[in-house]
Amino acid sequence: MNSKRLRNIWRSIINLKLLELRKLHIGIKNCKQCILHKERLNVVSGVGHYDPKVAFVGEAPGKEEDKTGYPFQGESGLILYRWIDELRLLDTEFSILNIVKCKPPNNRDPMDEEVSTCTDLWLKKQLDILEPKIIVSVGRIASAYFLGKEFKSGILTYAGRFYGDYYCLPHPSYFLRRGSKPNEWEPYLTKLKEKLDD
Ligand code: SF4
Repeated sequence: MNSKRLRNIWRSIINLKLLELRKLHIGIKNCKQCILHKERLNVVSGVGHYDPKVAFVGEAPGKEEDKTGYPFQGESGLILYRWIDELRLLDTEFSILNIVKCKPPNNRDPMDEEVSTCTDLWLKKQLDILEPKIIVSVGRIASAYFLGKEFKSGILTYAGRFYGDYYCLPHPSYFLRRGSKPNEWEPYLTKLKEKLDD
């Protein structure tokens, strides 16, 4: 097959992915399938590239994310983007999503039925389109979702390890609460770094 034809096929795949993601975004913006839609200012559907190596999946929007419509704002976001830099991921190599797309009231954990409704409707479809090589769950709620029955205790039991194509990380807020220095999160990034450098 000549290179022009290959380029055209590649362009159509890209256009299709963007179109599908755009359709999902419109669906998410109008979604009222669980109680969380009632207090949201903005849905937070996700950011990043349509063909990423890595998809980072956090828990739920907080106050800043709800205000802006973007995931991982504020200090937690600064730490996540610092990790992304340390992993030497280019802007075209990652995307950032959440388990639920609307802010739970008073910063509570999303309930089981909110998680299952939202992920069935949106996250699974987003990941099907993005097809990341590695999914990194950021924090307890996201890790519990991806690991399912295997997740029985605290996040630190699982963090820094691969489970098939899933990799678990603690949430940046865990390090913020402890006033951690960067050397405290380094060990959790090591195996992911090694895999990406392979
Ligand atoms: S959290 Fe998810 S399922 Fe619930 S209203 Fe928002 S987008 Fe819809």
